[in-house]
Amino acid sequence: MNLHTVKERQRILVTGGAGFIGSHLCRRLLADGHDVVCLDNFHTGSDDNVYDLSTHPRFKLIRHDVTEPYYVEVDQIFNLACPASPVHYQSDPIKTVRTCVQGAIHALELAGRVGACVLQASTSEVYGDPQIHPQSESYWGHVNPVGPRSCYDEGKRCAETLFTDYGRHNGVAIKIARIFNTYGPNMARHDGRVVSNFIVQALAGRPLTIYGDGSQTRAFCYVEDMVEALVRLMNSPENLCGPVNLGNPHALSMLALAQWVKNFTQSTSPFRYEPLPVNDPLQRCPDISLAREYLGWQPRVPVEEGLVRTVAYFAGETASQATSWRASHPLHPAGYTVY
Ligand code: NAD
Ligand code: UDP
Repeated sequence: MNLHTVKERQRILVTGGAGFIGSHLCRRLLADGHDVVCLDNFHTGSDDNVYDLSTHPRFKLIRHDVTEPYYVEVDQIFNLACPASPVHYQSDPIKTVRTCVQGAIHALELAGRVGACVLQASTSEVYGDPQIHPQSESYWGHVNPVGPRSCYDEGKRCAETLFTDYGRHNGVAIKIARIFNTYGPNMARHDGRVVSNFIVQALAGRPLTIYGDGSQTRAFCYVEDMVEALVRLMNSPENLCGPVNLGNPHALSMLALAQWVKNFTQSTSPFRYEPLPVNDPLQRCPDISLAREYLGWQPRVPVEEGLVRTVAYFAGETASQATSWRASHPLHPAGYTVY
């Protein structure tokens, strides 16, 4: 039996819990009946994301920076604290490295002291600008160690090393999730990531900024699917440490994404082409065979539906208003299964 599912009600720490993915994860864990401690310095997240949880009897919010040690008695730790948008992680690159590396050490030290299982939110950026497509976990990547993205890419790679060695040498129960592009409600409006940028621009009637010629590809996973995968990985058998790719294996070009956003927002915004950022990966798509086989997981929310829900969020509507869209648009159900 998996040691980490013995106790039904767990005390769970989510670092970066006031961010985009973290705020959804906190909600999910509370809904599952757990006690949740959210630790965040509000660098890129916001207490608005968890404001409605502030009176929840099983929820605690701690303002703290993971580059400093901390102590809290918990059974599980999801280590999500780190800016994820290229604009934010490049704005203070040394701090980004410290958050990745010192943040990993502090989470691992705590896990060792209290006997908790700790999951690292790693990233597809560990593959850099990949020359193998799609990317499987066995690929070592193609990363520039001295480019503008290196603070994040190399910081996350070093964190994976630390996690692996704390597991191997110190007996800490670890999990490494390689998260590919994830999107949905609670993304920060101005954090510069492509989905939020396009939607905010389209809704405002401003030009959609396409970097390069828009032929570069990404594969977008809806946040609800990602949270399900993270919970499954955390509660998987102890010998499944990862890294495990988590993401949606359906790649699309940024030009195609822009066109979809235009359609879903019924926007007449033009496209404005801007230079491709340095070292911007040209292609990225996860091979999720491992997650399928060992977690029984694959995304179930089609990108079209997830985008409509996200547009609804940014437009200030409720997501439930958008879900009726699914019934009237039965889009390519093949390839998506219900858990
Ligand atoms: P986000 O920026 O919305 O959330 C990160 C949270 O961490 C924020 O609330 C921020 O305030 C907090 N934080 C940052 N530095 C901190 C520090 N030093 N101390 C304490 N808190 C700190 O980003 P997100 O998209 O929710 O990403 C969450 C995690 O998932 C990150 O570790 C990111 O690297 C990883 N990830 C996300 C994606 C994605 O597409 N969203 C893809 C790959 C990996
Ligand atoms: N991008 C774009 N327009 C924007 C923002 C981003 O064309 O307004 C492109 C960016 O160059 C990259 C892709 O969209 O090729 C995804 O960028 P994002 O910052 O969301 O995430 P990344 O996968 O690069 O970390």
